[in-house]
Amino acid sequence: MTDFAPLNDAVTFPSPEVPDEAGGIAEAKAADGAAPSSVGGGCHGGRAEMRRAAAVAGHSETLDRYAADYPSGPHDQPQSMCPAFGSLRVGLRMRRTATVLCGSACCVYGLTFTSHFYGARRTVGYVPFNSETLVTGKLFEDIRDAVHQLADPALYDAIVVTNLCVPTASGVPLRLLPKQIRGVRIIGIDVPGFGVPTHAEAKDVLAGAMLACARAEVEQGPVPAPRDLRTDRPTVTLLGEMFPADPVAIGRLLEPLGLAAGPVVPTREWRELYAALDCAAVAAIHPFYAASVREFEAAGRAVVGSAPVGCDGTAAWLEAVGDACGVAASAVTAAKTALLPTIRAALAANPIEGRITVSGYEGSELLVSRLLVECGADVRYVGSACPRSRWSDADRAWLEARGVQVRCRASLEDDLAALAEFRPNLAIGTTPVVQKAKQQAIPALYFTNLISARPLMGPAGPAALAHVINTALAGQHRFDAMKEFFEGVGTGATAGIWGHWPPADAAAAPPAAAKRRGESTPC
Ligand code: SF4
Repeated sequence: MTDFAPLNDAVTFPSPEVPDEAGGIAEAKAADGAAPSSVGGGCHGGRAEMRRAAAVAGHSETLDRYAADYPSGPHDQPQSMCPAFGSLRVGLRMRRTATVLCGSACCVYGLTFTSHFYGARRTVGYVPFNSETLVTGKLFEDIRDAVHQLADPALYDAIVVTNLCVPTASGVPLRLLPKQIRGVRIIGIDVPGFGVPTHAEAKDVLAGAMLACARAEVEQGPVPAPRDLRTDRPTVTLLGEMFPADPVAIGRLLEPLGLAAGPVVPTREWRELYAALDCAAVAAIHPFYAASVREFEAAGRAVVGSAPVGCDGTAAWLEAVGDACGVAASAVTAAKTALLPTIRAALAANPIEGRITVSGYEGSELLVSRLLVECGADVRYVGSACPRSRWSDADRAWLEARGVQVRCRASLEDDLAALAEFRPNLAIGTTPVVQKAKQQAIPALYFTNLISARPLMGPAGPAALAHVINTALAGQHRFDAMKEFFEGVGTGATAGIWGHWPPADAAAAPPAAAKRRGESTPC
């Protein structure tokens, strides 16, 4: 067995010096026995080549399932962070869950760094490899040794092992790991960048794998009850990570229907998975959880899309939930009569004026846009890195009926083209979109940190959203002042450190803003 070396940050399971040919990883070799050409590949190694190697290595079934669950197009893949970050983050947020990555050191470094940047404060395990351990099967043995060492039931309910790009392309067969060791579940998932388009969808890869495991356990017999069993009403499981106040707000909206908010999936604890499955219906608040929906549907649960945002959204959602849970139509009408005036008043009290473009990769972009429109904003474009989905179709149709251009699987180019075309008063977007907007003195807000991180649902949504939006819109004069002050800095003759003066014609006309600042120019 390999020595276990716990570190604060990454745990490594060093490979032995002498490779062992007897590993259970025959699939890792190409059909001709040669080393898979994926070794040394990665984000920039060529998607087609990685896919071909993965297919040769026996991972066609997994990739075909991903292609069906997370369809690409209109282009191959949105620009996004490494997809594995999504599943890594889900695992790191769960209590009593250990996380082990297997991939190229540079990938693991980046993922570990990012997870700690976002405050994981949990150890990330790492099983390194080299081309010998990869092709001889020794890597699989190292992974198996690692999970055997980690599987302490006093500490863990589950261990999540994630194959990154190269081990996936090489066919490292995590499915051959034991399903349980001393009662600790072993969940092996492949999350290659060439098969899972976004980090959002990678969350579903892990959530779906855990739900499948939990569902199998439920079918075999009694399982532990949730620790915080707070209701005896039928529950609605909420699919998608959301601001912590939102499940509470949703619970209040469900009360008049005789229902309660159930667990949020991805869950924070293993036993919550059982409670999530034991629901009256599932609300796909985020629309990209295809594998998770498959598990809920296999358990006989109805799934409804969209979410209770704004007045129209809440009304439609209450009807859909009532229908899925068999609530009497009169009770749904009574609930709407009781709840909608409060939301309407909240919308009226928090108006937003201004032209806005929205883009992001969280999956809630269409919901945010609906709420913006109901607050009065002139939303022209919404782009989401997530695919078109039956769970967000109603939102898309609602927005398009109001003249909003909706682009699913939007690329950065789509988002920037919208910025150029619509010249918004405020751009909500990803980092490069925000950067581009600010360069043009357009106020901009980062979707993930500033929009996703506040309540959207029920009466609390309008006030929370309008506050941040209106504050940003009111900052236009600061952008104008900054643009005037910095005009010309970092471009042309003022870009970089020159070994020689720029050509005379480039330096001849000092930027107007430089003159205003009283700067001398190199001519
Ligand atoms: S694991 Fe992530 S960072 Fe590494 S090659 Fe794949 S997509 Fe890129």
